[in-house]
Amino acid sequence: MDKRQLIEWDKKFIWHPFTQMKLWLNEEPTIFIEGKDCFLKDIDGKWYLDGVSSLWVNIHGHKRSEIDEALKEQIDKVAHTTLLGASNAPSIILAKKLADLLSKRLPWGEPLTKIFYSDNGSTAVEIALKIAYQYWINQGIKSKDTFISLKEGYHGDTIGAVSVGGVELFHEVYKPLLNKSIQAPAPYCYRCELNLTYPICNLACLNEMEKIIANNNEKIIAVIVEPLVQCAGGIIVWPQGYLKGLRQICNRYNILLIADEVATGFGRTGKMFACEHEEVNPDIICLSKGITNGYMPLAITATNEKIFNTFLGDVDERKTFYHGHSYTGNPLACAAAIANLEIFEKDRTLEHLPPKIELIKNILNEIAQLKHVGDVRQKGMIAGIEIVKDKITKEPFPYREQMGWRIVKAARKHGVWLRPLGDIIVIIPPLIISQEHLKRLLEVIKDCIIEVTS
Ligand SMILES: *Cc1c(COP(=O)(O)O)cnc(C)c1O
Repeated sequence: MDKRQLIEWDKKFIWHPFTQMKLWLNEEPTIFIEGKDCFLKDIDGKWYLDGVSSLWVNIHGHKRSEIDEALKEQIDKVAHTTLLGASNAPSIILAKKLADLLSKRLPWGEPLTKIFYSDNGSTAVEIALKIAYQYWINQGIKSKDTFISLKEGYHGDTIGAVSVGGVELFHEVYKPLLNKSIQAPAPYCYRCELNLTYPICNLACLNEMEKIIANNNEKIIAVIVEPLVQCAGGIIVWPQGYLKGLRQICNRYNILLIADEVATGFGRTGKMFACEHEEVNPDIICLSKGITNGYMPLAITATNEKIFNTFLGDVDERKTFYHGHSYTGNPLACAAAIANLEIFEKDRTLEHLPPKIELIKNILNEIAQLKHVGDVRQKGMIAGIEIVKDKITKEPFPYREQMGWRIVKAARKHGVWLRPLGDIIVIIPPLIISQEHLKRLLEVIKDCIIEVTS
């Protein structure tokens, strides 16, 4: 297909997500046509090192033969059958695999063995919110109508997910449409609202959370968080102990804890799930992005038997969970996910991470010294670099200067593909990335920060 024609049609017919289309129309878009391992090729034949895992979904590299084969095999059988009133083999096998994985990795409470399928992170969150609400209703408790979420939190773009979102730029405009929720302060140490340092700040943040819960106890359905790293809010890495403390507060007040591990799940933080780092079992977990290595849209919401059992009853008790999607448990997506999980075992993906995590840490330490780098943050294979105008006062660059974008565009010239969050440079490479390529990725970022900010 002719490149000029594709660009013309793109501009004419596609409304791009999270994109000011007025700017888009004046730019030359990158059109990707191929991928291999950690690289993506554009229509001009130029290869880029993929520093953001194709928007945080890719784990084992692009074009993995094991997943290609699993999909082809499933296509030869059937592409779609429904889970509404029927079942299919890939969704059954995947549910068993996920339940086993979750029980093994998260043994510090009720095991998460009940798997509800949907097809993206936002719907996984909607399902979690609805299950949590109805869990109380099923027990005859009708006073609960409010969620607690964190400032700078991000749980997706559907209205329920936006209701528990805390990124002002994305969420402010929809406020009149939203459900009830209360925002607690984020444990964002670099920009601590209370101007405290660790470990006092951690306790202060938890204290604020506890106060909100204590003051609203009979209304609160659940607390929903992105455990350990609030990714879309700016790679905000929590201080040690916050998640554990939050679990204890939820226990104390008998409130559900929902862990949105859509971004952090499947090895990104160095362990299979972020909750493992603090030995915490959530009551409900949401998983998506890495679940199929980016091959097919798929998400799951998993919960424990205690919650599941409250939905059991005679039909006229109205305890059924009336929720489902056309593509729920799609066999192709499930087949891709099964193959994806098997690669974790075959490649020993997690065991190969420690030296890579160390390498990121070392180069980030160098980057932290740069004049316009305010903060560097890392948890496992997720990292963020916060660019500021003034290192001492932490004053950001003016929004219109688009500093993050300028750095990212410079990196593209050097064959590195990134997408920033405002003035935070995001580094979320496929877990399979070699140390050599990881080093190159970080050095290009370092050079581009220097080049653009000086
Ligand atoms: C990306 C993301 C979502 C939304 O997932 P989509 O598939 O884009 O709808 C939800 N929660 C978190 C933590 C995410 O990073």
